Amino acid sequence: MNILVCIKQVPDSNKVEVDPVTGVLKRNGVESKMNPYDLYAIETALRIKEKLGGSITALTMGPNQAAGVIREAFAMGVDHGVLISDRKFGGADVLATSYTISQGIKKSGTYDLILCGKQTTDGDTAQVGPEVAEWLGIPSLSNVSKVTELKAGSMVVEMDMTHEIEIAEIEYPCLLAVDKDIFIPRLPSFVKKQETKDREIRVITLADLEDREEKHYGLNGSPTQVQRIFPPEVNNHREVWNGEGSELTGRLLSKLKELKFA
Ligand SMILES: Cc1cc2nc3c(=O)[nH]c(=O)nc-3n(C[C@H](O)[C@H](O)[C@H](O)COP(=O)(O)OP(=O)(O)OC[C@H]3O[C@@H](n4cnc5c(N)ncnc54)[C@H](O)[C@@H]3O)c2cc1C
Repeated sequence: MNILVCIKQVPDSNKVEVDPVTGVLKRNGVESKMNPYDLYAIETALRIKEKLGGSITALTMGPNQAAGVIREAFAMGVDHGVLISDRKFGGADVLATSYTISQGIKKSGTYDLILCGKQTTDGDTAQVGPEVAEWLGIPSLSNVSKVTELKAGSMVVEMDMTHEIEIAEIEYPCLLAVDKDIFIPRLPSFVKKQETKDREIRVITLADLEDREEKHYGLNGSPTQVQRIFPPEVNNHREVWNGEGSELTGRLLSKLKELKFA
């Protein structure tokens, strides 16, 4: 079983500033760490490999320093690492990020199973995994909270949909976005860290991709633009209305429309 795990380096703080002109996160000088959900994805890959054999590749798209999370993945037991990195990829929104990752995956090998975390702690959209699957033309499942059965050509998983658990069988090749609690991630091993400190990380740049059109990547390939980022306003304002049910529902609907909730 060839497994690919997508991992992202995220700021180790929620006090990250955003460039007011470009809307891009100011990452310089900010401590970073592996996106916590991606630790669950790595642990899932390691457990599956322990049962079925094969190899695990960790892949990240980011600046050169993102190689740090691949080293951490090596110390947990991952076999290979791929860094998708090029200045042209900077400032990517979800569409451009998922496209770049899918292009990088096509270049880095063939995989039976691609694992992602459910979401990140910075972008937080939970869209990259399913979009990568769309670009690659393979099926995907999100919110995966349990691997129930591993078969030769497929696997059975549970998805935690908050109010219910859904069970599905999915054929390989496929992509799963895993929830926390699927397994408890193991700690990186000091011995493995030492053993893998010189292990090569394959770097993929724009020049290596099948599609080298610059306009599909980074800010150029990002149809979404950040207009303004601000902390949510804390508002203790409240109104008490008295009256008949039908009058109050009409008033409530008008209020919701006024506040743009309806
Ligand atoms: C409207 C909008 C505009 C944005 N504009 C900008 C911008 O101008 N500049 C900017 O810097 N950022 C911007 N971002 C953030 C940037 O798009 C996201 O950080 C990036 O697309 C990844 O999405 P995410 O963090 O929401 O990942 P999610 O979808 O929450 O991540 C899910 C999983 O996908 C995988 N994954 C996600 N990112 C990577 C990666 N880089 N490498 C490998 N695996 C990965 C991981 O397994 C992760 O657990 C914007 C986001 C939005 C919504």
